Amino acid sequence: MTISPTGATPEYEQYLRRLPKVELHCHVEGTLRPGTVVELAAKHGIALPTTQVDEVYRYSTIYEFLEIYRTVNSTVIDREDFARIAYETLQDGVELGNLKYREMFFNPTLHTARGIPMATVIDGLIEGAKAAETDFGVRCAFIADVYRQDPPPVARQMVEEVLAHRRPELIGLGMDAAEAPDPPEKFVEAYRVAKAAGLRLTSHCAEDGPAANVTTCLDLLGCERLDHGYHILEDPAVVARCRDEGVTFTVCPTSTAVVYGWPDLTTHPITKMIDAGLRVMLNSDDPTMFHTDIGTEYAKFCGQNNFRPELVRQLVVQGVEAAWLDDIDKAAMRRAFETEIDELDREYVS
Ligand SMILES: [Zn+2]
Repeated sequence: MTISPTGATPEYEQYLRRLPKVELHCHVEGTLRPGTVVELAAKHGIALPTTQVDEVYRYSTIYEFLEIYRTVNSTVIDREDFARIAYETLQDGVELGNLKYREMFFNPTLHTARGIPMATVIDGLIEGAKAAETDFGVRCAFIADVYRQDPPPVARQMVEEVLAHRRPELIGLGMDAAEAPDPPEKFVEAYRVAKAAGLRLTSHCAEDGPAANVTTCLDLLGCERLDHGYHILEDPAVVARCRDEGVTFTVCPTSTAVVYGWPDLTTHPITKMIDAGLRVMLNSDDPTMFHTDIGTEYAKFCGQNNFRPELVRQLVVQGVEAAWLDDIDKAAMRRAFETEIDELDREYVS
């Protein structure tokens, strides 16, 4: 069997799904299986707008989307729930996209503001990830995210609380939610505290804010990689800097196609970022909420762009390179990935 040089054939889609993958931009709160939402709501006596599994994630506006996000989160309460959602999303990643390693975001204040202890959140997620590693061989570390609509002192307090419950699996600080009203410089204190404690740093950036936010995140917050970054294309000087410095952008085709109305992935800013020589790697963001998964992201984005296998391999390897693993671990993962991709190439590529 060989993959066609043109068009997204079933064989090419299968090849893209079977490639080994790293994912560095996925929010655990956006990964709940709809069936799990219904079961957790029943467990805790929480009323949902619908108990029809295929209706749980039905929305037509960003406001409805955010309302569903809040409702879904309200069903995750005890340690067992947090363990379950971490376990299930890692299983989904393995089964739908051959996921090998994920650094997964969680929003501590979305839970602590509901009265859930930080230890319940962190220990539950880690417990679920360890069980998934045992059962499926997939590895996972965690990144605590600042919720931008929180006031800066709340964000700083969140970081201190996370550090008080620090575990080896908790390796970084990130930042998400609406960027335009709450720019990155507001949260310099939270990042300073995290950096001093040795956490790795990233941030959602230039997603719905200007290219200048890239510079702020790199220089003021000390970010080592960036999430999204599409508006960087509006400033050639920032593009040139990030290309020269090899900054990695964790990009998300489907979620941005839905939220920002960029359905044509061949003209999507991610395609232009690749053309501009920027380092990107593909991710699913909030997979179940956007009706996607990491395998589908590769299948859709690389398939629609009809990328050559060499370019797809480059995207996969850039994911490994941008992971916050130590050098020995990373080199071993890269060798294992190259071997697995070589085998797939022999099977699929003429
Ligand atoms: Zn995100």
